[in-house]
Amino acid sequence: MSTIEKFNEHVMHTYGRLPIVLESGSGTDAHDEDGKEYIDFGSGIGTNSLGYCDSAWADAVCAQVRTIQHTSNYFYTKIQADYAEKLCTVTGYDSVFFCNSGGEANECAIKIARKYSFDKYGEGRGTIVTLVDSFHGRTITTLSATGQDVFHQYFFPFTPGFVHTPANDTAALSELIASDKSICAVMIEFVQGEGGVNRMEPEFVKEVKRLCEENDLVFIADEVQSGMGRTGTVLASEQFGVKPDVTTLAKGIAGGIPMGACLAGEKCKDVLTSGTHGSTFGGNPIACAGAMVVIDRLTSEGFLDEVQRKGWYITQKLLDMDGVEGVTGMGMMIGVILTKANAHDVLEKAAEKGLLILTAKEKVRLLPPLTISYEQIDKGLEILKGILSEV
Ligand SMILES: *Cc1c(COP(=O)(O)O)cnc(C)c1O
Repeated sequence: MSTIEKFNEHVMHTYGRLPIVLESGSGTDAHDEDGKEYIDFGSGIGTNSLGYCDSAWADAVCAQVRTIQHTSNYFYTKIQADYAEKLCTVTGYDSVFFCNSGGEANECAIKIARKYSFDKYGEGRGTIVTLVDSFHGRTITTLSATGQDVFHQYFFPFTPGFVHTPANDTAALSELIASDKSICAVMIEFVQGEGGVNRMEPEFVKEVKRLCEENDLVFIADEVQSGMGRTGTVLASEQFGVKPDVTTLAKGIAGGIPMGACLAGEKCKDVLTSGTHGSTFGGNPIACAGAMVVIDRLTSEGFLDEVQRKGWYITQKLLDMDGVEGVTGMGMMIGVILTKANAHDVLEKAAEKGLLILTAKEKVRLLPPLTISYEQIDKGLEILKGILSEV
């Protein structure tokens, strides 16, 4: 039985997969079972931030596996302490809760927001505002938080306590907060990833911050996709000049090992107390060892400037291509508006020609490894250009 047959026989059919079996990778390149080579402009889904099997990252992970792979969170480990210190120092936050995915990081943020409000104001103030076209995860509660109706099917009853308002509509948000006294938090993505690589307007973000301060709401930033260098700064929030009360991270944080993190600043750092939250694997030493290499790389001299430059370079080249109507996003989180091609058709044709890309709604989405070379960028974009010129 072939790998694909075996897979389809035994793994639940929750994804529309391409008929490709990826076997190994190095840097920007992935190889399938038949030895065909692909340039990966999706890096997992922004998870393999240093590309495939970066040697310093692989060494640190392997060394950790051979030292101590896991302990329960009823003990301390040095690597978790070292990484927590580093992550908080670099991001400017006070405390962190470690988990294993973006959905879980958002669950933690939601619990923090509701408990912050409960501790101060009691029951009845637990509603969280999220944005239309947001994506916050696949758990029942994070699906409820997600502001897209397609996700609100089948799994009834959904968790109550979420209201959605259009992105970049300051008046609507302000009216909503004024009219609903049950609101305790606002949760946004600075660049909506799954929702179509939609970047927030700086004035809207400033207004979210101001309204949260004025009404003692918890400002939550879901930086699961935009965080950890993806946009050219460690956090995308830096480029908007705001510091949310809570920021969630996952995807690229540990270079391809499952990890999530929920960061809290002064206002919320002590909200979760002993016994109120937990995760068996959260802060796992192997994940922390991988994450340490990622954060060391991000903070190395000139690295993030280079991410910004590469993002700009890719954007310019895309804008010069036939078939491209416009480009959205920030840094190396890039959405391509196509004039007439269907994004999923482009994705399939690109894979045939040895280029792996992503889509987001009707756009092509690119999340190349942050370490990609200009040579590989050119090579990948040449393939994309060829496809778009044929449509
Ligand atoms: C991917 C994503 C999530 C969900 O992360 P998982 O690790 O799949 O649970 C949540 N929020 C955003 C913005 C994401 O891009």
